[in-house]
Amino acid sequence: MVAAFITEPLVVDPVVHAAEIARFVAKVVEGPGEYCAIWTGAIGDDGYGRFSITREGRERTVKPHRYAVAYRLGVPIEFGEVIEHIVCDNPICCRADPEPSVGHVWPSTQADNLRRMASRGRGGGRRWWVRRWSGLSRPERAERSRALAAAVRDGWDEARVRRVLMTIDPAQLPLFD
Ligand SMILES: [Zn+2]
Repeated sequence: MVAAFITEPLVVDPVVHAAEIARFVAKVVEGPGEYCAIWTGAIGDDGYGRFSITREGRERTVKPHRYAVAYRLGVPIEFGEVIEHIVCDNPICCRADPEPSVGHVWPSTQADNLRRMASRGRGGGRRWWVRRWSGLSRPERAERSRALAAAVRDGWDEARVRRVLMTIDPAQLPLFD
């Protein structure tokens, strides 16, 4: 049984939640270079990850990309606050980083600026791994997320990642062209 989503602000303290952070990090596989950091734990029917935490003695569920932002940016994430995958559109990407040229996942309050930066920095060749996810149906998105997580569960495997991203729904256009 899956616990309810957290409704309190999500705070991740590097000291208080050290064991939880270690459990989180162990489920994320970082691609090389600027590639996504992929969640390999549980994935819900919406295609987003699920991570269990305990707050005030109660088990709560959070989406891992939101957890990554709270942890890596050191900011509380309010209930209902929109967190966006600005670079990659990949729902299970957890690449949060305070450095704008590194992070993929950001609070939407910072999104417009970062999107402008991202579009300026795109000159150096096409990123094959940036795919449009938002146009997928919910079952298609969940299928692609689960396939992608499975592709890297034993470590980064570019051939498998490519196969998932390029062959699930081949009619898809890349996000940026
Ligand atoms: Zn990403």
